[in-house]
Amino acid sequence: GELPSVEALEKVAKAAHAKFKDDQGGKNADYIPALAEVPSELFGVVIVTKNGDVIKVGDVDTSFSIQSCSKVFTMSLVMQESGEQVIYDKVNVEPTGEAFNSIQAIEEGDGRADNPFVNAGAIATVSLIKAKTAEERWDKIIKIYEKFAGSKLEVLADIYKSEAETNFRNRGIAAVLYNSNNLFAEPLMVTDVYTKQCSVGVNAEQLAVMGGTLANNGVNPVTKEKVIDAKYVPKVLAVMMMNGFYDGSGRWAWNAGVPAKTGVGGGVVAVVPNKLAIVGFAPPLDEQGNSVRAQKAIEYIVDTLGLSVFGPGK
Ligand code: GLU
Repeated sequence: GELPSVEALEKVAKAAHAKFKDDQGGKNADYIPALAEVPSELFGVVIVTKNGDVIKVGDVDTSFSIQSCSKVFTMSLVMQESGEQVIYDKVNVEPTGEAFNSIQAIEEGDGRADNPFVNAGAIATVSLIKAKTAEERWDKIIKIYEKFAGSKLEVLADIYKSEAETNFRNRGIAAVLYNSNNLFAEPLMVTDVYTKQCSVGVNAEQLAVMGGTLANNGVNPVTKEKVIDAKYVPKVLAVMMMNGFYDGSGRWAWNAGVPAKTGVGGGVVAVVPNKLAIVGFAPPLDEQGNSVRAQKAIEYIVDTLGLSVFGPGK
């Protein structure tokens, strides 16, 4: 199928926003105390095409924490730096069918973290960045996120503080991985850098440009800067398809049929390869930790335009 026109995209984005804006489903994450304070009614929808067109509806300028959507871009960083095999060999790329923060999943398998998008795998992925110090590791992360977004990004200090004070489970996961030689740098340092990456503030537009860079095969469609090699994009999208929604990934593949990644901050970034990215942002989450309104809006847009990667198109 062809890239839909900007007019068609504007129409469907507006319709999606109107259709779901009053949906009361779900609940803000509260295991990170600061996330419970984010206004639940916020709702933004953004589409970025591979040509750099940006279609925005609703709360698209409010910064929210990127949370697990970050995992997509740190995986990209590690592949760009060290090639794809290191992810395949040292993290693995299998869906867990378990919750995002599962410890059982790492215990059951061969000790590896399973895939870069569950917490264990994301923490292992951070440990694979080549760096001598925590500062250098962090610097590489924020620099590549800024290239993906085409704008300056900052950590949301209150979210970072709140999560750093309460992330005992992630520290435990890092320790278990390290104990079995499946974490490749000092566990508490790695967990802290991971926590910081999750606290990066993005608005819906910035996250959509990040996704748009994947839709445009690694080149930022707005700044035209190359961020990662095109050959890595299918690897990232494959893991998004298999595990972007944790134990809700099968349902998402069934309903939407496009690779996407969610975060407990309420963002969801979906990528239609070679065409466009769609971001939905709304804080209330379903049982699996995925934004209710963002999912519905993206499903509606994909369905209306026939964008499923498995479908015949429209
Ligand atoms: N920072 C969150 C955590 O580690 C990310 C979880 C998510 O967004 O799914 O618990």
